Amino acid sequence: MIKKTRIKDSYIVRTKKRILRDTVDSEVKYTTTFRDIRNYFKIFNKSLFKNALNSFNNVKIKRIVRASGQCVEYISYRKGTNFFVLEMMPKYKNKMEFLNTLAHEMVHLWQQTIKKDTGNHNKLFFSFRNKFKRLNLKLSS
Ligand SMILES: [Zn+2]
Repeated sequence: MIKKTRIKDSYIVRTKKRILRDTVDSEVKYTTTFRDIRNYFKIFNKSLFKNALNSFNNVKIKRIVRASGQCVEYISYRKGTNFFVLEMMPKYKNKMEFLNTLAHEMVHLWQQTIKKDTGNHNKLFFSFRNKFKRLNLKLSS
């Protein structure tokens, strides 16, 4: 048990350092890439969600109105299936904003696929606040 905890903690520490290194230049605009989305999805899945998340069914980089990212659920009532699409903006103020947005949308994916929750900014959503803090991320609505 103790060993397991240590491994987990060291991964959190390494991830935090990586994020610090990656976001050091907050004045530089960030251009979204599928590669960063893919890499950080893996990192956040491990450090925030115990690898419980399945990937988004699709990822789009596009302009979004009134949000900096979106987790969109598509439901086919005819087939009885649903799938989730991550939408991210082409540009962000800086890389930190990009990372906060991606992690935020992953919480929505977790709510809707693992917890079968509404995916609102509710208590379940904000239960990730401290986990975010440990990685130097910020969870806001
Ligand atoms: Zn949200």
